[in-house]
Amino acid sequence: MTAAETWPPLREELRGLEPYGAPQLSLEQAPVQLNVNENPYGPSEACAAAIARAVGEAASSLNRYPDREFVALRGALAAYLNASGGSDVTPDMVWAANGSNEVMLQLLQAFGGPGRRALSFAPTYSMYPEYARDTITEWVVGHREHDFTLDLDHARSLVEEVGPSVVLLPSPNNPTGTALPHDAIGVLCEAAGDGLVVVDEAYGEFRRTDTPSALELLPSHRNLVVTRTMSKAFALAGGRLGYLAADPAIADAIRVVRLPYHLSAVTQAAALAALGHADELLARVDDLRAERDATVDWLRARGLTVADSDANFVLFGTFADRHAVWQGLLDRGVLIRETGPAGWLRVSIGTPVEMGQFRTALTEVMEEL
Ligand code: PMP
Repeated sequence: MTAAETWPPLREELRGLEPYGAPQLSLEQAPVQLNVNENPYGPSEACAAAIARAVGEAASSLNRYPDREFVALRGALAAYLNASGGSDVTPDMVWAANGSNEVMLQLLQAFGGPGRRALSFAPTYSMYPEYARDTITEWVVGHREHDFTLDLDHARSLVEEVGPSVVLLPSPNNPTGTALPHDAIGVLCEAAGDGLVVVDEAYGEFRRTDTPSALELLPSHRNLVVTRTMSKAFALAGGRLGYLAADPAIADAIRVVRLPYHLSAVTQAAALAALGHADELLARVDDLRAERDATVDWLRARGLTVADSDANFVLFGTFADRHAVWQGLLDRGVLIRETGPAGWLRVSIGTPVEMGQFRTALTEVMEEL
């Protein structure tokens, strides 16, 4: 190799790779942004003012490092979880970081690594193999059925055969929207032995009512980890706060790999203030669920195939040239996501007005196909 080919001296397996991320366009370029599963409703004025006040108070002591153990925030997160599906979640069972992506990376740093394996079932969240790659953990992937559900026999035997240190099980799954039933989680926790089973509930609050949170299963499986985020239902993607609930020994072990003071005083203050307005921030979840169900019905009525969704997005298709459909929508100011298996597209649920614009644009694009 010439010097030019080896500079900078990146790890061999990282050479030529693109950083993960959907196209990030300005509102002028794409006025209707339905591509990264954000909550379309921002914080209320009262909530934004409370966050600003809290951050203002933190500002006067920014010469000091923040509370490394974020005790107040852990307490508030535990209380929130107990009020929303958990029971007896104590602050020492909670861990938080800058988004649930960082939480899961830390899990792999602590529990994965060379000679260990991480496992999930595709199609699934495309960051999972990146956590594995970045922590030099072997990545093993099983499959999902045609309707994107898990075949429990396949999942159980793969877990038993592979012996993963970490199983990543999103519920609901991204990009398909598929939630996991409780019995499947329980069976896979048993099959994993001492391996961790991470149920990624980034979209948990959007589930249809018949699938409860995996938080309920924490008392019966010490290897179960439930991760959550404030980025989606909680309408705080810009705040970067993700967290988990698990056995205190698991939360404690992560402290070994976290960087000191990883959660800034500004982040802690903003998240705490937002938790004080939880009801308000979550108030639109029912509206978003209803809009999602209406979107699924509308797409099906257009003759499209649509995955059942328990999340705030919908995977639909299939198109011979999905890129042309994506581009046609973007040309009309509607940005969605070109992701998932070949031929499928994913749209995040926006406001009723935004979804109307999406429907109009898609109707036009499909007439041109
Ligand atoms: N898990 C899943 C399944 C996701 O789709 C996302 C975000 N797209 C995340 C975790 C991470 O979100 P955040 O880091 O904002 O908490």
